[in-house]
Amino acid sequence: MLERVLALLREHDRFLITTHIRPDGDALGSQLALGWFLRKLGKKVAMINSDPAPENLGWMAGVDDAEVYDGAIDQRERIAQADVILVLDTNALERLGKLAGAVQDSKAVKVLIDHHTDPEGWFDAAYAPDTASSTGELVYELIAAYDPALIDTEIATALYVAIMTDTGSFRYSSVTPAVHRIVADLLERGDLRPAPIHTALFDTRSLAGLRLLGLALETIRLHYDGQIGSMRVSQRAVRAAAAGLHETEGFVNYVLSVASVRAAVIFIEIDAGIKMSFRSQGDAYVNEWAQAFGGGGHRNASGAFVHGGDLDEVFRDVIDAAPRHVKLAPPEASDTLSADDLSYLIALKEKMEG
Ligand code: 5GP
Ligand code: MN
Repeated sequence: MLERVLALLREHDRFLITTHIRPDGDALGSQLALGWFLRKLGKKVAMINSDPAPENLGWMAGVDDAEVYDGAIDQRERIAQADVILVLDTNALERLGKLAGAVQDSKAVKVLIDHHTDPEGWFDAAYAPDTASSTGELVYELIAAYDPALIDTEIATALYVAIMTDTGSFRYSSVTPAVHRIVADLLERGDLRPAPIHTALFDTRSLAGLRLLGLALETIRLHYDGQIGSMRVSQRAVRAAAAGLHETEGFVNYVLSVASVRAAVIFIEIDAGIKMSFRSQGDAYVNEWAQAFGGGGHRNASGAFVHGGDLDEVFRDVIDAAPRHVKLAPPEASDTLSADDLSYLIALKEKMEG
């Protein structure tokens, strides 16, 4: 699969690279890295997305190379006339937002590079193992298989952002020794500096954002013996804090950090409807829960969007549905640490003491 995609990269000249709506670090990092790599090979590359980069990624070098689709003739032509369309970090046409129609109509060879489960059937080729930590890991593999010497500071930084953001800073179970070897290689190949990247991504909240966090923390509720946790961000709260919606990034993790909570959901009220983010630990998978509301994602990190929904109604429906989709532990065992993780920690402690 990697060989086939690599051959397509070699053979063709005009590429369109796109990724999902509301792009995140993995989406943009993967896109920019692959785009610069192909340009280094002398290819013509357009990077066009439905939505702009989020504010906390605005510092990334060349982030403006990723254009926002506005339906202009020149953009439509580049999509229609591409030899190859590379779709990154999503396997669903709907997640391409405003580009969906133009991508569907293009005669280009459509290639998927992604790590989500259950890809749709319209791709002509794919490199999409759903066990990968991130799309960034897969883009690294493609570039390294071609020629690792092409990895410069910009590509290394973009891939680091992609892998780091999608692995919760290298802590999720998708992180293998291979992922750490990739990061070690990135550190050796470019002037890559993790500290300012982490600061820019995680430690740069505005005062308004912190006020919104304060209001959001007040809304945390626990359900089902405390195993499910919820948080709500209403438009009223956003206005009261004078904050931007992008400031809600990461809020859901505060809910998941409550000791008893195995699965957490945040409801964010925006003009068009209710945006939800689901996060969980261990085997309390949330992807089916998100799917029940038209969304999807990974087993421990999913999302969904209910168009035109009412916050109270959506909240009730989603919380009511939780036990049908999320594996809850028997009440007495409802600890965030699974029995397996707990015995691992106890054994480790005994070993250190012995
Ligand atoms: P987030 O909660 O950060 O927006 O999204 C977490 C993950 O859930 C994303 O990486 C993506 O895989 C998935 N996801 C988020 N929103 C949606 C959605 O509206 N539809 C689908 N199918 N997946 C989503
Ligand atoms: Mn991803």
